[in-house]
Amino acid sequence: VFNTVPPMPWFGMDIGGTLVKLVYFEPTDKAKEETALETETVKKISHYLKSSSAYGKTGKRDVHLQMDNCCINGRYGTLHFIRFPTSEMHVFLSLAKSKGIADMASTVCATGGGAYKFEEDFRREVNLQLHKFDELDSLIHGIHFIEAYNTHECYYIENPMVDDKYIKIPYDFSHPYPFLVVNIGSGVSILAVTSPDQYKRVTGTSIGGGTFLGLCALLTGCETFEEAIALAKKGDSTKVDKLVKDIYGGDYKKFGLSGDTIACSFGHMMSKEKRKTASPEDLARATLLTVTNNIGSIARMCAVNENIERVVFVGNFLRVNDVSMRLLAYAMDFWSGGTMKALFLQHEGYFGAVGCLLELMK
Ligand code: ADP
Repeated sequence: VFNTVPPMPWFGMDIGGTLVKLVYFEPTDKAKEETALETETVKKISHYLKSSSAYGKTGKRDVHLQMDNCCINGRYGTLHFIRFPTSEMHVFLSLAKSKGIADMASTVCATGGGAYKFEEDFRREVNLQLHKFDELDSLIHGIHFIEAYNTHECYYIENPMVDDKYIKIPYDFSHPYPFLVVNIGSGVSILAVTSPDQYKRVTGTSIGGGTFLGLCALLTGCETFEEAIALAKKGDSTKVDKLVKDIYGGDYKKFGLSGDTIACSFGHMMSKEKRKTASPEDLARATLLTVTNNIGSIARMCAVNENIERVVFVGNFLRVNDVSMRLLAYAMDFWSGGTMKALFLQHEGYFGAVGCLLELMK
């Protein structure tokens, strides 16, 4: 975009189907060439963003993900991670207007579908021209950057099915190729990455994080993702799903299927009696397992097809969602006979926004 270093402030924004992810680089060094206006603007923004970890009713700064001592384009500083619902985009724009962000006449890099959908609103409301970048390019770029910086970024889960014994263990991702990326946002995209600058989108599924939240709201009346996950944690899906043993009376031995394997998601719900005994918690858990198992099974088939052993799961569906991560870890290992590994990244849903910020430097 620029021949030299772009003017501060540096933002990257990923405007998704459900959440807006905002990554902000706060410089902590002093640059000689910085103008007084720039310093003033940066101060103002930093002050506002750091004054709180909550903005309005819905904006949140993920303080635990903050990265200090980051070097981007020769500058040192802190990366901040902020998110809010895409439905609040207009509130965000009027806030930006009232905070004087419109006067910066700066460049904001944006990715995700909303970069297109809200482009005109940015121009009209805050006089900002969006530089749009592809979301999957940004995602891959962001993963490479953060992973190289953060030695504890990538991890796997050991003993995933043992409640008090499962642990997250750092995974050495320094020789990662090839690997599969399963991005679980509102919907799901699956990418095969073969080198630092080579990847392809293998497939996707519309049954993703948004499906879980939508169905869960319908079935339980819950209002938020956090609520949906809290319900699911307490539920028992066998009250809702039909298991192999419900059909066979035990294991299906010929094909090595244990009696406890789910044979039919929501299969009990065809019975009036069973419907009466299923609690909101049970329904939430069954919804979570249905969506997660479906994604796991598609991911595994892609990995087999592409001859890939490492599968990296990202996206905000995995936020505060150990149930799904453990299930994916178990399923990948079990159904592949131990040849495949499910990997996870600490910054879950922020890679697109990070990659987008980096595009500004190109
Ligand atoms: P997108 O770019 O499509 O918005 P994300 O990676 O941000 O995708 O993931 C969105 C999904 O993350 C939601 O569908 C939901 O399952 C989950 N999620 C996690 N935290 C929240 C939250 N605070 N509000 C809404 N959805 C959330």
